[in-house]
Amino acid sequence: MHREEIHHAPRTGDALPVMADYDEARATFTWEAARAELDGLPGGAGLNMAHEAVDRHAASSRRDKVALRCLRRDGTRTDVTYGELAEASSRFANTLDDLGVGVGDRVFVLMPRSPELFAVALGTLKHRSVLCPLFSAFGPEPIRQRLELGSGTALVTTPFLVRHKVAPIRDRLPGLAHVLVARGEGEAVRDLPEGTLDLAALTAGAAPTYEIGPTDPEDMALLHFTSGTTGTPKGAVHVHGAVVSHRATGRMALDLHPDDVFWCTADPGWVTGISYGVVAPLVLGVTSVVDEAEFDAERWYGILESEGVTVWYTSPTALRMLMRAGPEVARAHDLSRLRFVASVGEPLNPEVVVWGQEVLGVPVHDNWWQTETGGIMIANYACMDIRPGSMGRPLPGIEATVLLRDDDGAVVIGGDGTAVEAPPGTEGELALRPGWPSMFRGYLGEDERYRACFAGVWYLSGDLVRRDGDGYFWFVGRGDDVIKSAGHLIGPFEVESTLLEHPAVAEAGVIGVPDPVAGEVVEAAVTLRSGFEPSDELRLDLLGFARRRLGAAVAPRTITFDAHLPHTGSGKIMRRVLKARALGLPEGDTSTLEPSS
Ligand code: ATP
Ligand code: MG
Repeated sequence: MHREEIHHAPRTGDALPVMADYDEARATFTWEAARAELDGLPGGAGLNMAHEAVDRHAASSRRDKVALRCLRRDGTRTDVTYGELAEASSRFANTLDDLGVGVGDRVFVLMPRSPELFAVALGTLKHRSVLCPLFSAFGPEPIRQRLELGSGTALVTTPFLVRHKVAPIRDRLPGLAHVLVARGEGEAVRDLPEGTLDLAALTAGAAPTYEIGPTDPEDMALLHFTSGTTGTPKGAVHVHGAVVSHRATGRMALDLHPDDVFWCTADPGWVTGISYGVVAPLVLGVTSVVDEAEFDAERWYGILESEGVTVWYTSPTALRMLMRAGPEVARAHDLSRLRFVASVGEPLNPEVVVWGQEVLGVPVHDNWWQTETGGIMIANYACMDIRPGSMGRPLPGIEATVLLRDDDGAVVIGGDGTAVEAPPGTEGELALRPGWPSMFRGYLGEDERYRACFAGVWYLSGDLVRRDGDGYFWFVGRGDDVIKSAGHLIGPFEVESTLLEHPAVAEAGVIGVPDPVAGEVVEAAVTLRSGFEPSDELRLDLLGFARRRLGAAVAPRTITFDAHLPHTGSGKIMRRVLKARALGLPEGDTSTLEPSS
């Protein structure tokens, strides 16, 4: 993992980084100053996310600037300006008023990436009801559970989804007063199920202006469900004031400049798709590419080229799939506009960082955060050398540390009653000192679970990391995924990264399985790159390869071939499902399991 650093060297003609010097920014940054960069509601009526994202621009010289460049599956394109988005979202806010939806009521959204989704999301925030995004690949039961947990008053969805996923559960949701359906092009009103409302007809009759009511920065704005990688998903509560974090991190961690063309590939059903797919780019007044279709290597390279994407925020899984497709596919496209590439959601193995430099022309910048933190916490920056395999250093305004854990995984408390910080190079739990604006304010209906996330002044992330002597953080594994074998603590990421260095391996999932002697032994499931076939010979080759690099204590004892590793819809490997399958146990809550897994 100790590869050479990739030195920060802007290419000729590239814009200089927004944050020119990390240490200086850390020394001078304050959240008060970051708040002052925002507009605030007229007349001092508070801070509202949607005002900052659209109305503020619509009232300025940016009114006619393209906010969204929406690509439909069939390749057609719709441009939406800031002015148009302000009007469309106001129409939706008025529609909510007309329906009698109240301030603070929950408005759920179950829709693919589309212009309508943006209007609904921003209209909900203007109206000061709470936006609760759902992932459209969920089945009916996960949708019902989340609507029930969040006490949904309204749900906005599409004709297809309403028929297949909402109709079967509607009678079990007595509190769900309104189901609004956004028709796709060419879909007729008469096809809508009984008891549903036609969104287009309602918004067409609503006024295109809306005066946002007083919004306290502490008012609840968003309810985000976590990915469910480690168990039952939790509903994380976020407030309007989080917009201060979204703006600041969009600049410092994603290096967004006003003229950028930005593409965030995350689905709006997850926190990344809202914080960085909707809020941050709009607040910063950039043009966003919004693609309705799913991953396809040829299509994605095509979009990067034809839309002239300059800043790209995506996931390790997507990048590994592009690697798998081979460099020829990339070379057929002109990617010279691409200036900054960032990735989140899963550990980014060093191979991908280097591949980015070679094939995309720019290295990949990993960053770390989670639903609970609402925004990026640790990152590699445009102005800083990259240590491939490291998540980077904490954002200005963020204090992060590593806390020692005992054998049972509990944080060690010292004689003075405070949690003990781990020395450089020692593994421990990643902890953050609350105080940034997008920190979650609770898990809805689960106070106990929320309180368990804190040790004294620290918020406990549940992830294991180590910090090197220069303050770079290195991901070891999720607390629950870490393997204890013959007295060693083994992070699955280290083993997976090594396997990914083998030319035959496209993806790897590593788990610990019980062993009478060692406690646990390491087991790996791998997906092969195209052109490679499973065989005993290849298995032996992989076992030997891992052993030589990792040593016998850490290398996998067994390797199985698996054409589809279980993933969450947001693209994370579900190691707990791999483990359950390996042990023949029930798979637990699989509501967020990607259908093809
Ligand atoms: P749940 O909490 O329901 O089990 P989840 O933790 O996967 O699901 P998210 O909030 O979407 O839900 O994901 C955040 C987690 O993703 C982090 O806690 C971390 O484990 C992982 N993660 C995010 N970014 C990175 C990264 N750059 N490197 C390694 N892991 C990452
Ligand atoms: Mg989590």
